Amino acid sequence: MGHAERAHAVLAASSSKQWLACPPSARLSEQFPDKGSEYAAEGTLAHEIAELKLRKAVLEPMGPRKFSKAIKELRSNPLYQPEMDKHTDTYVDYVLGIVHSYTSPPYVAVEKRLDYSAYAPEGFGTGDCIIIGGDTLHIVDLKYGKGVPVDAEGNTQLRLYALGAVTEYGFLHPIRQVHMVIVQPRVVETPSEDTITLDELLAWGESIKPTAELAYKGEGEFNPGDHCRFCRAKAVCRARADAHTALEVFGGMKPPLISDAEVGQILERGRNLAAWLEDLEKYALNRCLEGGDIPGWKAVEGRGSRQYVDQDAAFKLLMEHGIDEAMLYERRPLSVPNVEKLLGKAKYRELLEETGLVEVQPGKPTLVPMTDKRQAITNKITAAEAFN
Ligand code: SF4
Repeated sequence: MGHAERAHAVLAASSSKQWLACPPSARLSEQFPDKGSEYAAEGTLAHEIAELKLRKAVLEPMGPRKFSKAIKELRSNPLYQPEMDKHTDTYVDYVLGIVHSYTSPPYVAVEKRLDYSAYAPEGFGTGDCIIIGGDTLHIVDLKYGKGVPVDAEGNTQLRLYALGAVTEYGFLHPIRQVHMVIVQPRVVETPSEDTITLDELLAWGESIKPTAELAYKGEGEFNPGDHCRFCRAKAVCRARADAHTALEVFGGMKPPLISDAEVGQILERGRNLAAWLEDLEKYALNRCLEGGDIPGWKAVEGRGSRQYVDQDAAFKLLMEHGIDEAMLYERRPLSVPNVEKLLGKAKYRELLEETGLVEVQPGKPTLVPMTDKRQAITNKITAAEAFN
Protein backbone atom coordinates (compact mmCIF):
# COMPACT_ATOMS: atom_id res chain seq x y z
CA MET A 1 0.00 0.00 0.00
CA GLY A 2 1.35 3.40 -0.93
CA HIS A 3 1.90 5.91 1.77
CA ALA A 4 -0.66 8.27 0.26
CA GLU A 5 -3.49 5.76 0.72
CA ARG A 6 -2.75 5.06 4.34
CA ALA A 7 -6.00 4.68 6.19
CA HIS A 8 -6.34 5.46 9.85
CA ALA A 9 -7.68 3.31 12.63
CA VAL A 10 -9.65 4.84 15.51
CA LEU A 11 -6.78 3.70 17.70
CA ALA A 12 -4.08 4.82 15.29
CA ALA A 13 -0.52 4.13 16.37
CA SER A 14 0.54 7.65 15.41
CA SER A 15 -1.91 9.15 17.91
CA SER A 16 -1.38 6.48 20.57
CA LYS A 17 0.47 8.80 22.92
CA GLN A 18 -2.69 10.88 23.01
CA TRP A 19 -5.31 8.15 23.43
CA LEU A 20 -3.22 6.26 25.96
CA ALA A 21 -2.96 9.42 28.06
CA CYS A 22 -6.54 10.57 27.41
CA PRO A 23 -8.67 7.58 26.34
CA PRO A 24 -11.92 9.43 25.45
CA SER A 25 -10.02 11.64 22.98
CA ALA A 26 -10.01 8.87 20.34
CA ARG A 27 -13.77 9.06 19.87
CA LEU A 28 -14.15 12.76 20.64
CA SER A 29 -11.74 13.49 17.77
CA GLU A 30 -13.89 11.65 15.26
CA GLN A 31 -16.26 14.57 14.80
CA PHE A 32 -13.45 16.86 13.69
CA PRO A 33 -12.00 16.57 10.20
CA ASP A 34 -8.44 15.34 9.90
CA LYS A 35 -6.96 18.22 7.95
CA GLY A 36 -3.94 16.99 6.05
CA SER A 37 -1.54 19.91 5.83
CA GLU A 38 0.89 20.68 3.03
CA TYR A 39 3.48 19.67 5.57
CA ALA A 40 1.94 16.19 5.73
CA ALA A 41 1.76 16.02 1.91
CA GLU A 42 5.47 16.81 1.78
CA GLY A 43 6.15 13.98 4.25
CA THR A 44 4.10 11.61 2.10
CA LEU A 45 6.19 12.42 -0.96
CA ALA A 46 9.43 11.93 0.97
CA HIS A 47 8.13 8.54 2.15
CA GLU A 48 7.30 7.54 -1.41
CA ILE A 49 10.79 8.44 -2.56
CA ALA A 50 12.30 6.52 0.36
CA GLU A 51 10.07 3.53 -0.36
CA LEU A 52 11.11 3.43 -4.00
CA LYS A 53 14.81 3.62 -3.13
CA LEU A 54 14.47 0.87 -0.54
CA ARG A 55 12.55 -1.38 -2.87
CA LYS A 56 15.24 -0.97 -5.48
CA ALA A 57 18.06 -1.57 -3.01
CA VAL A 58 16.63 -4.52 -1.11
CA LEU A 59 13.47 -6.00 -2.46
CA GLU A 60 13.04 -6.03 -6.17
CA PRO A 61 16.18 -5.29 -8.09
CA MET A 62 14.78 -3.08 -10.85
CA GLY A 63 16.58 -2.01 -13.96
CA PRO A 64 17.96 1.54 -14.08
CA ARG A 65 15.30 2.42 -16.67
CA LYS A 66 12.36 1.43 -14.52
CA PHE A 67 13.83 3.13 -11.46
CA SER A 68 14.68 6.37 -13.23
CA LYS A 69 11.20 6.55 -14.74
CA ALA A 70 9.59 6.06 -11.32
CA ILE A 71 11.84 8.51 -9.51
CA LYS A 72 11.44 11.09 -12.26
CA GLU A 73 7.72 10.92 -11.79
CA LEU A 74 8.04 11.50 -8.04
CA ARG A 75 10.49 14.36 -8.57
CA SER A 76 8.02 16.09 -10.86
CA ASN A 77 5.73 16.64 -7.85
CA PRO A 78 5.59 20.39 -7.08
CA LEU A 79 6.39 19.62 -3.44
CA TYR A 80 9.67 17.95 -4.41
CA GLN A 81 12.86 19.57 -3.08
CA PRO A 82 16.36 18.30 -3.93
CA GLU A 83 17.09 17.93 -0.20
CA MET A 84 14.48 15.16 -0.14
CA ASP A 85 16.98 12.97 -1.95
CA LYS A 86 19.69 13.66 0.57
CA HIS A 87 17.42 12.98 3.53
CA THR A 88 15.84 9.84 2.10
CA ASP A 89 19.36 8.57 1.29
CA THR A 90 20.25 8.99 4.96
CA TYR A 91 17.28 6.81 5.88
CA VAL A 92 17.97 4.22 3.18
CA ASP A 93 21.66 4.03 4.21
CA TYR A 94 20.61 3.44 7.78
CA VAL A 95 18.30 0.59 6.78
CA LEU A 96 20.98 -0.91 4.53
CA GLY A 97 23.42 -0.72 7.43
CA ILE A 98 21.15 -3.05 9.40
CA VAL A 99 20.48 -5.33 6.43
CA HIS A 100 24.19 -5.69 5.65
CA SER A 101 25.10 -6.38 9.26
CA TYR A 102 23.71 -9.88 8.79
CA THR A 103 25.69 -12.58 7.05
CA SER A 104 22.60 -14.23 5.61
CA PRO A 105 20.00 -11.86 4.16
CA PRO A 106 17.37 -10.89 6.75
CA TYR A 107 13.65 -10.65 6.05
CA VAL A 108 12.70 -7.13 4.96
CA ALA A 109 9.29 -5.55 4.41
CA VAL A 110 8.63 -1.97 3.31
CA GLU A 111 5.42 0.01 3.91
CA LYS A 112 3.98 -2.96 5.71
CA ARG A 113 0.48 -2.99 7.16
CA LEU A 114 0.79 -4.10 10.75
CA ASP A 115 -2.23 -5.30 12.66
CA TYR A 116 -2.04 -4.82 16.43
CA SER A 117 -5.75 -5.36 17.06
CA ALA A 118 -4.93 -8.10 19.56
CA TYR A 119 -3.88 -5.24 21.87
CA ALA A 120 -6.01 -2.28 20.74
CA PRO A 121 -9.40 -2.93 19.10
CA GLU A 122 -9.24 -2.64 15.29
CA GLY A 123 -5.75 -1.20 15.58
CA PHE A 124 -3.52 -1.25 12.52
CA GLY A 125 -0.92 0.99 10.99
CA THR A 126 1.78 1.04 8.35
CA GLY A 127 5.39 0.41 9.30
CA ASP A 128 7.92 2.16 7.06
CA CYS A 129 10.40 -0.68 7.23
CA ILE A 130 10.69 -3.86 9.23
CA ILE A 131 13.67 -6.16 9.24
CA ILE A 132 13.93 -9.52 10.96
CA GLY A 133 17.42 -10.93 11.27
CA GLY A 134 18.58 -13.62 13.70
CA ASP A 135 16.52 -13.16 16.85
CA THR A 136 15.97 -9.42 16.34
CA LEU A 137 13.02 -7.52 14.96
CA HIS A 138 13.92 -4.02 13.75
CA ILE A 139 11.22 -1.41 13.28
CA VAL A 140 12.52 1.62 11.41
CA ASP A 141 10.40 4.73 11.12
CA LEU A 142 11.19 7.72 8.92
CA LYS A 143 9.92 11.05 10.21
CA TYR A 144 10.35 13.74 7.61
CA GLY A 145 9.06 16.57 9.81
CA LYS A 146 11.27 19.44 10.82
CA GLY A 147 9.80 19.92 14.28
CA VAL A 148 10.93 18.62 17.64
CA PRO A 149 13.05 15.47 17.81
CA VAL A 150 10.97 12.38 18.54
CA ASP A 151 12.46 9.90 20.99
CA ALA A 152 12.37 6.18 20.18
CA GLU A 153 12.68 5.30 23.86
CA GLY A 154 9.32 4.20 25.19
CA ASN A 155 7.72 5.33 21.92
CA THR A 156 4.17 3.96 21.88
CA GLN A 157 3.75 4.23 18.10
CA LEU A 158 6.78 2.01 17.43
CA ARG A 159 5.79 -0.40 20.16
CA LEU A 160 2.36 -0.88 18.62
CA TYR A 161 3.96 -1.51 15.22
CA ALA A 162 6.31 -3.97 16.91
CA LEU A 163 3.36 -5.78 18.51
CA GLY A 164 1.75 -6.00 15.07
CA ALA A 165 4.94 -7.39 13.55
CA VAL A 166 5.38 -9.94 16.35
CA THR A 167 1.76 -11.07 15.91
CA GLU A 168 2.38 -11.69 12.23
CA TYR A 169 5.93 -13.03 12.20
CA GLY A 170 6.39 -14.42 15.70
CA PHE A 171 5.49 -17.94 14.59
CA LEU A 172 7.96 -18.02 11.73
CA HIS A 173 10.88 -16.15 13.27
CA PRO A 174 12.47 -16.75 16.67
CA ILE A 175 12.19 -13.08 17.73
CA ARG A 176 13.68 -12.36 21.14
CA GLN A 177 14.69 -8.72 20.87
CA VAL A 178 13.00 -5.66 19.44
CA HIS A 179 15.06 -2.75 18.14
CA MET A 180 13.07 0.40 17.33
CA VAL A 181 14.49 3.33 15.45
CA ILE A 182 13.31 6.77 14.41
CA VAL A 183 15.28 8.36 11.59
CA GLN A 184 14.57 12.08 11.54
CA PRO A 185 17.15 13.38 9.08
CA ARG A 186 15.99 17.00 9.07
CA VAL A 187 16.19 17.34 12.83
CA VAL A 188 19.02 15.20 14.18
CA GLU A 189 22.00 13.51 12.59
CA THR A 190 21.87 10.37 14.68
CA PRO A 191 18.71 8.28 14.68
CA SER A 192 17.02 7.68 18.01
CA GLU A 193 16.98 4.01 19.06
CA ASP A 194 15.52 1.78 21.72
CA THR A 195 15.95 -1.94 22.25
CA ILE A 196 13.75 -4.04 24.50
CA THR A 197 13.24 -7.77 24.90
CA LEU A 198 10.26 -9.51 23.40
CA ASP A 199 8.99 -10.23 26.92
CA GLU A 200 9.11 -6.53 27.79
CA LEU A 201 7.22 -5.66 24.63
CA LEU A 202 4.53 -8.27 25.29
CA ALA A 203 4.17 -7.15 28.91
CA TRP A 204 3.74 -3.55 27.73
CA GLY A 205 1.13 -4.74 25.21
CA GLU A 206 -0.82 -6.44 28.01
CA SER A 207 -0.55 -3.35 30.20
CA ILE A 208 -2.19 -1.05 27.64
CA LYS A 209 -5.07 -3.37 26.78
CA PRO A 210 -7.55 -1.98 29.37
CA THR A 211 -6.80 1.63 28.35
CA ALA A 212 -7.15 0.76 24.65
CA GLU A 213 -10.54 -0.86 25.40
CA LEU A 214 -11.71 2.32 27.13
CA ALA A 215 -10.41 4.50 24.30
CA TYR A 216 -12.17 2.37 21.70
CA LYS A 217 -15.45 2.69 23.58
CA GLY A 218 -14.98 6.43 24.12
CA GLU A 219 -14.79 5.94 27.87
CA GLY A 220 -12.28 6.76 30.58
CA GLU A 221 -11.09 10.05 32.04
CA PHE A 222 -10.19 13.11 30.05
CA ASN A 223 -6.65 14.05 30.82
CA PRO A 224 -5.32 17.32 29.38
CA GLY A 225 -1.57 17.66 28.87
CA ASP A 226 1.14 18.16 26.27
CA HIS A 227 -0.48 15.51 24.08
CA CYS A 228 -3.49 17.84 23.49
CA ARG A 229 -1.42 19.60 20.79
CA PHE A 230 -2.08 16.73 18.39
CA CYS A 231 -5.72 16.16 19.34
CA ARG A 232 -8.34 17.17 16.77
CA ALA A 233 -10.69 18.24 19.57
CA LYS A 234 -8.04 20.52 21.06
CA ALA A 235 -9.73 23.86 20.38
CA VAL A 236 -13.06 23.21 22.03
CA CYS A 237 -12.39 20.31 24.37
CA ARG A 238 -13.98 21.16 27.70
CA ALA A 239 -11.45 19.29 29.83
CA ARG A 240 -8.63 21.28 28.25
CA ALA A 241 -10.53 24.55 28.67
CA ASP A 242 -11.27 23.73 32.33
CA ALA A 243 -7.61 22.99 32.98
CA HIS A 244 -6.62 26.38 31.61
CA THR A 245 -9.33 28.49 33.10
CA ALA A 246 -8.43 26.98 36.49
CA LEU A 247 -5.42 29.31 36.31
CA GLU A 248 -7.63 31.75 38.18
CA VAL A 249 -6.99 29.85 41.38
CA PHE A 250 -3.67 31.63 41.44
CA GLY A 251 -5.52 34.96 41.67
CA GLY A 252 -6.23 34.64 45.36
CA MET A 253 -2.66 33.88 46.32
CA LYS A 254 -1.15 35.34 49.43
CA PRO A 255 1.38 36.69 50.54
CA PRO A 256 1.87 39.60 48.08
CA LEU A 257 4.76 37.96 46.26
CA ILE A 258 4.43 34.56 44.65
CA SER A 259 7.01 31.94 45.52
CA ASP A 260 9.50 30.33 43.10
CA ALA A 261 7.49 27.12 43.36
CA GLU A 262 4.42 29.01 42.15
CA VAL A 263 6.41 30.63 39.32
CA GLY A 264 7.33 27.12 38.16
CA GLN A 265 3.71 25.99 38.22
CA ILE A 266 2.35 29.07 36.47
CA LEU A 267 4.98 28.85 33.72
CA GLU A 268 4.19 25.20 33.18
CA ARG A 269 0.51 25.94 32.78
CA GLY A 270 1.08 29.18 30.91
CA ARG A 271 3.10 27.38 28.24
CA ASN A 272 0.13 25.23 27.37
CA LEU A 273 -2.19 28.19 27.82
CA ALA A 274 -0.51 30.11 25.00
CA ALA A 275 -0.86 27.12 22.68
CA TRP A 276 -4.50 26.70 23.70
CA LEU A 277 -5.34 30.37 23.03
CA GLU A 278 -3.81 30.06 19.58
CA ASP A 279 -5.96 27.00 18.87
CA LEU A 280 -9.04 28.86 20.10
CA GLU A 281 -8.27 31.84 17.87
CA LYS A 282 -7.91 29.64 14.80
CA TYR A 283 -11.13 27.87 15.67
CA ALA A 284 -13.06 31.13 16.25
CA LEU A 285 -11.77 32.65 12.98
CA ASN A 286 -12.95 29.58 11.09
CA ARG A 287 -16.34 29.70 12.75
CA CYS A 288 -16.74 33.42 11.90
CA LEU A 289 -15.75 32.76 8.28
CA GLU A 290 -18.25 29.91 8.06
CA GLY A 291 -20.95 32.33 9.22
CA GLY A 292 -21.04 31.13 12.84
CA ASP A 293 -21.38 33.48 15.79
CA ILE A 294 -18.66 33.84 18.40
CA PRO A 295 -20.10 36.53 20.69
CA GLY A 296 -17.80 39.55 20.97
CA TRP A 297 -15.67 38.61 17.94
CA LYS A 298 -15.76 38.99 14.15
CA ALA A 299 -13.52 38.27 11.17
CA VAL A 300 -12.11 41.22 9.18
CA GLU A 301 -9.66 41.50 6.32
CA GLY A 302 -6.10 41.74 7.61
CA ARG A 303 -3.61 44.32 6.42
CA GLY A 304 -2.82 43.76 2.73
CA SER A 305 0.65 43.82 1.24
CA ARG A 306 1.89 45.33 -2.02
CA GLN A 307 3.22 42.95 -4.66
CA TYR A 308 4.77 43.53 -8.07
CA VAL A 309 2.44 42.38 -10.82
CA ASP A 310 5.45 42.05 -13.14
CA GLN A 311 8.75 42.66 -11.36
CA ASP A 312 10.84 42.69 -14.55
CA ALA A 313 8.63 45.32 -16.19
CA ALA A 314 8.59 47.42 -13.01
CA PHE A 315 12.40 47.37 -12.64
CA LYS A 316 12.87 48.12 -16.35
CA LEU A 317 10.68 51.19 -16.02
CA LEU A 318 12.52 52.33 -12.90
CA MET A 319 15.86 52.02 -14.68
CA GLU A 320 14.54 53.97 -17.64
CA HIS A 321 13.77 56.68 -15.12
CA GLY A 322 17.37 56.81 -13.99
CA ILE A 323 17.37 54.42 -11.00
CA ASP A 324 20.61 52.47 -10.96
CA GLU A 325 20.04 48.70 -11.15
CA ALA A 326 22.34 48.09 -8.15
CA MET A 327 20.01 50.19 -6.00
CA LEU A 328 17.15 47.82 -6.73
CA TYR A 329 18.74 44.75 -5.21
CA GLU A 330 19.97 44.03 -1.71
CA ARG A 331 23.27 42.20 -1.40
CA ARG A 332 23.31 39.99 1.66
CA PRO A 333 25.89 37.48 2.82
CA LEU A 334 24.78 33.85 3.00
CA SER A 335 24.31 32.61 6.56
CA VAL A 336 26.70 29.92 7.83
CA PRO A 337 24.07 27.13 7.65
CA ASN A 338 23.30 28.11 4.05
CA VAL A 339 26.99 28.13 3.09
CA GLU A 340 27.24 24.64 4.63
CA LYS A 341 24.30 23.53 2.47
CA LEU A 342 26.01 24.99 -0.58
CA LEU A 343 29.38 23.37 0.07
CA GLY A 344 28.35 20.10 1.69
CA LYS A 345 29.48 19.16 5.20
CA ALA A 346 33.03 17.97 4.41
CA LYS A 347 34.04 20.95 2.26
CA TYR A 348 32.45 23.33 4.75
CA ARG A 349 34.46 21.86 7.60
CA GLU A 350 37.68 21.96 5.61
CA LEU A 351 37.32 25.53 4.37
CA LEU A 352 35.64 27.29 7.22
CA GLU A 353 35.81 25.33 10.48
CA GLU A 354 39.33 23.92 10.29
CA THR A 355 40.66 27.32 9.23
CA GLY A 356 39.00 28.89 12.26
CA LEU A 357 36.92 31.22 10.08
CA VAL A 358 33.71 30.04 11.67
CA GLU A 359 33.26 29.60 15.39
CA VAL A 360 30.29 28.50 17.40
CA GLN A 361 28.96 31.20 19.71
CA PRO A 362 27.11 29.84 22.73
CA GLY A 363 23.38 30.52 22.54
CA LYS A 364 21.58 32.91 24.89
CA PRO A 365 20.40 31.30 28.15
CA THR A 366 16.94 29.92 27.54
CA LEU A 367 14.38 28.67 30.00
CA VAL A 368 13.08 25.18 29.18
CA PRO A 369 11.08 22.57 31.09
CA MET A 370 13.03 20.02 33.17
CA THR A 371 12.11 17.30 30.66
CA ASP A 372 14.41 18.93 28.08
CA LYS A 373 17.48 16.74 27.47
CA ARG A 374 20.06 19.54 27.46
CA GLN A 375 22.42 19.98 30.39
CA ALA A 376 21.36 22.77 32.79
CA ILE A 377 23.61 25.85 33.07
CA THR A 378 23.87 28.22 36.01
CA ASN A 379 25.76 31.36 37.02
CA LYS A 380 26.13 30.12 40.56
CA ILE A 381 29.79 30.42 41.53
CA THR A 382 31.51 27.20 42.51
CA ALA A 383 33.40 26.77 45.78
CA ALA A 384 36.70 26.79 43.83
CA GLU A 385 35.85 30.09 42.13
CA ALA A 386 34.87 31.63 45.45
CA PHE A 387 38.19 30.54 46.93
CA ASN A 388 40.17 32.16 44.11
S1 SF4 B 1 -7.85 18.10 23.94
FE1 SF4 B 1 -6.62 16.99 25.42
S2 SF4 B 1 -7.99 16.59 27.12
FE2 SF4 B 1 -9.27 17.12 25.37
S3 SF4 B 1 -9.78 15.17 24.42
FE3 SF4 B 1 -7.98 15.93 23.38
S4 SF4 B 1 -6.26 14.99 24.46
FE4 SF4 B 1 -8.05 14.80 25.81
